[in-house]
Order: sequence, then structure tokens, then C-alpha cells
Amino acid sequence: MDLDFSPQDQAFRAEVRAFLEAALQPRFRELAARTTTVFGEPPEVLDWQRVLDDKGWLVPHWPADVGGQRWSPIQRFIFDQELARAGAPVLPGMGLKLLGPVLYTFGTPEQKAVWLPPLRRGTQFWAQGFSEPGSGSDLASLRTRAVRDANGDFVLNGQKTWTTMAQHATHMFCLVRTDATVKPQRGISFLLVDMAQPGVEVRAILSASGDHEVNEVFLDNVHVPAANLVGLEGQGWTIAKFLLENERGGSSYGPALVADVARLRAGLAALPCAADPILRDRLVRIEIDAMSLEMTELRILAGMAAGDAPSALSLTTKLIASEIRQAVEQFATEMLGMAGLALPEDRADPARTAAARYLNSRAWSIFGGSSEIQLGIIARGALGL
Ligand SMILES: Cc1cc2nc3c(=O)[nH]c(=O)nc-3n(C[C@H](O)[C@H](O)[C@H](O)COP(=O)(O)OP(=O)(O)OC[C@H]3O[C@@H](n4cnc5c(N)ncnc54)[C@H](O)[C@@H]3O)c2cc1C
Repeated sequence: MDLDFSPQDQAFRAEVRAFLEAALQPRFRELAARTTTVFGEPPEVLDWQRVLDDKGWLVPHWPADVGGQRWSPIQRFIFDQELARAGAPVLPGMGLKLLGPVLYTFGTPEQKAVWLPPLRRGTQFWAQGFSEPGSGSDLASLRTRAVRDANGDFVLNGQKTWTTMAQHATHMFCLVRTDATVKPQRGISFLLVDMAQPGVEVRAILSASGDHEVNEVFLDNVHVPAANLVGLEGQGWTIAKFLLENERGGSSYGPALVADVARLRAGLAALPCAADPILRDRLVRIEIDAMSLEMTELRILAGMAAGDAPSALSLTTKLIASEIRQAVEQFATEMLGMAGLALPEDRADPARTAAARYLNSRAWSIFGGSSEIQLGIIARGALGL
């Protein structure tokens, strides 16, 4: 197996690195350094989104006719590696990674023209309204009702929960029940909801770290024009499955983990406990796991670049990444000793974010499908059980 990148790929890496050195201003690096949740926070993260959009590199994974790049899977991986290595803020993925592909795959030409440009530009900001109290892993049991009015528009009533960044959202894509008389999966539709209207109420859920990342969203007689139905009425479950596959399998997790282990190593070197053999041994084990995941993802991408379908290995990466992410953040708190337990209000000093990051990392084995659900997916999809 040839493990080297081709000369073309190495030239591409140099081009990306040179761009990031010029474009990734200190304020963007500082945003990333103080972020303890999954994504960088608006409005600053949207400035970074626009820098990438101006360069044409915001949505390289989209088709070229809607703003994507014709990059190979390996080039996309190199791009992710360079972003992580440079310490760029993580862009909120609800619009760019989840809704965008749904719109260009299932949307009408009008829907693509209306919704994709502001999504890319960040002038509209999207939340994902799937989970409800009692309907997370068992998503098909969701109860938010959408009933047609006299004009054929929809009226929504119900509650969504764990809605990431809904406090910033101008819009939310939602799964709703449009038919309660058929098999649960067949009665679900996919709607685009304007958050700035009467009847939409967003209530904060503060996490154990004190961060405001997730929310409850209450919908009380909320109006949604018929034109905001994506796909056919009753096709929402098919669309949701497509979207969840993108959420679980469409990301490379290794580059960010490898880059964060490198930062841990640098942080440890500056501490009095730097020579502790037990700590060093643990860090190396985490590093090997992160590098192995990165190598596995490269193998998956190399197969795809050669025209193969995504291999069964791709079903395993979210589960493994969650475990490594939690090990990274646990190590970061423990190497700091008592200082690693502090939960300061002020997150401006990145050295004081370890405890919040550790607490937030516990959510990795829950969101985007819990680890137990991932094991079920691997058992059925990869092992045929
Ligand atoms: C930080 C964070 C951000 C999130 N952001 C969003 C968002 O933006 N939009 C959104 O729609 N949702 C979001 N979620 C919700 C997330 O998708 C759900 O929390 C997740 O799907 C689990 O559902 P649940 O919380 O209802 O737990 P449950 O489904 O009630 O699960 C409880 C426990 O039972 C286990 N379990 C359940 N079913 C099975 C089974 N069949 N086999 C084995 N074990 C099982 C689970 O693994 C878990 O340990 C977010 C969650 C978190 C924590």
C-alpha cells in the first residue's frame, strides 16, 4: 500500500496552507481556542464562513453547480487536516453539512435558488429540529403535528428538544407528523420553518459546563407555507435517513483529533508533570488511536476515490471518534491537576477551558446517534447480524 500523498495532493496541501496562513486571522484562531462546545459561535464564526465562501472553499463537498469544488475525497481530507492543524473554528454543520445536501438532492429548482445562497452566505442560520422529548433514538415516534389550513399551508404544534444553536437560528428544518393514520415512518414530512414568527419559543438548556449550546423549541400554531415542504408529503423519513447518513458518515473526525493531541502534547511539555511516564504513556496511546482513525478514514476515502462504494468501515468512525474525543478531553483535565477542574465564567483564556470541554465531550456519545445506536448500525450494516 502506498501511504504517500501524490505530488498533486502535496501541491494542493501547500496551496491550502498558504491560504490559511493569510486568511485565518488571530480573532478566528482565538474563537476556536475558547470554544468548548462543538461549533464556533455566531456571529464571529459566520465571518469565517464568509472568508471561505469568498475563496470558493466553503462547501467543497457540494456539487459544482451549487458552489462545490470538484475535489477528490483525498483533497477534501487534506483540506480538513489543514483546517484542524491551523486551529480554524469549526463551522456549524446544521445548514452546510446537513440541510444543504438535502436541498440540492430533494429540493425543487425554486427551493435551491431561494435557500442555498443565504445558507452559504450565513445570512440565514439553521437549526435541526428532529429530536423531541421521548423521540431521540426512536425518532419515528415524533409527535409534532402539521395540519394543512384552508390555503394548503401547514400549521405546526409540538415541541423539539436538544436543538443546537436554536438561539441563533433564523430558520429550522423540521421533521413533523403530517399523517397519524399510517405506519409512523410514512406519516413524517420535512419542513422549513421561519423562527421569527409568533408561536415559536426558544428556551435555553444549560449544560453541566454552564454552556448554552442546546435548547427546547416550542411550536404553537406556527405557520409554514406549502412551498416550504421539501420532497413529497410523507417523504420526510426517507430524507431524514439520507441526512442522518451524512451526519454520521459524512465527516472525517481524525484530522481534528490528531491536531488536538498535538496541542495536548505541547501543553503537557510546559507542565511540571511533563516527564511523568504514566502520563506520557497515556498520551501516546491516545495519539496512536487518533492516528489510526485518521488512517482508517484515509483508507475509506482512497476506496471512494477509486470508485468503490463507502466501505462498512465508515459505519464505525463516529463511535470510535466519540471515544477518542472523550479520552482527549479527559487527559486535558487530568494533566492540569486541580486547575483542570475549574469552570471559569470567563472563557477568554483558552488554558482555562479544559473542564468545560471535558464535560461537553460527554455529549459525543449521544448526539448524531448514541454510541449504543452506532453499535446497532455496525451490527446490522457491517456484520450482517
Ligand atoms: C449536545 C447535543 C446536541 C444535540 N443537537 C441536536 C440537534 O441540533 N437537533 C436534534 O434534533 N437533536 C439533537 N440532539 C439530540 C440527539 O440526537 C439525541 O439526544 C439522541 O439521538 C439520543 O436520543 P435521546 O436523548 O432521546 O435518548 P434515548 O433515545 O432516550 O436514549 C437513552 C439511552 O438509551 C439508549 N438506547 C435507546 N435506544 C436504544 C436501542 N435501540 N438499542 C440500544 N440502546 C438504546 C441510548 O443509547 C441512550 O443511552 C442533541 C443531543 C445532544 C446531547
